[in-house]
Amino acid sequence: MSFTCPACGFTGLEKIPWYQKALPSGLVVWRTSHEICAVCGIEFGRDDWAGGNLEKRSEVHQRWGKRFK
Ligand SMILES: [Zn+2]
Repeated sequence: MSFTCPACGFTGLEKIPWYQKALPSGLVVWRTSHEICAVCGIEFGRDDWAGGNLEKRSEVHQRWGKRFK
């Protein structure tokens, strides 16, 4: 099983970069793999944290990935 890098499109990630997890309290939080992409070098949860803002995170991915396309 492999996953796609949201920044550069590399399809060989070992873990899913981001996923949502429901806590016992019912709160849904984001979890991240902290994997570093072998192609573009982005570290999920660090380079693309973006203050936890989902829209900003996808902007970070777009900006980051442009350098590798
Ligand atoms: Zn990548």
